[in-house]
Amino acid sequence: MERRCAECGAPLTGRPDKRFCCDDCRTAFHNRRYHDAGKGAVEVNRILRLNRRILAAVHSSGIRSIPLSDSRMRGYDPRYFTAMEKAPLRRPVYHCYEYSFIIRSGRLYLRQIS
Ligand SMILES: [Zn+2]
Repeated sequence: MERRCAECGAPLTGRPDKRFCCDDCRTAFHNRRYHDAGKGAVEVNRILRLNRRILAAVHSSGIRSIPLSDSRMRGYDPRYFTAMEKAPLRRPVYHCYEYSFIIRSGRLYLRQIS
């Protein structure tokens, strides 16, 4: 199996225990981990509310599937959600408050839970 940089995904060569392609990636990875671990509830809630607002705007304009790279998804952080269901052999279903979605090939498939 090809090994890849834990930060940027570039293929790795050299020592088998190597995890990053360069010092910049190692630093970025550890900085972010430290940063995320220190996020308080206020910051997490801000991110979740922003995610919800973005999903609500997309949903209310009638869109049911959208690439994560679409400009209407700007500011959306897919690392934050309110719940996740994972059935064997199925894609995980994520929830953000009253919205649920799956992500397939960089595309988000959205529905509102009534
Ligand atoms: Zn890298």
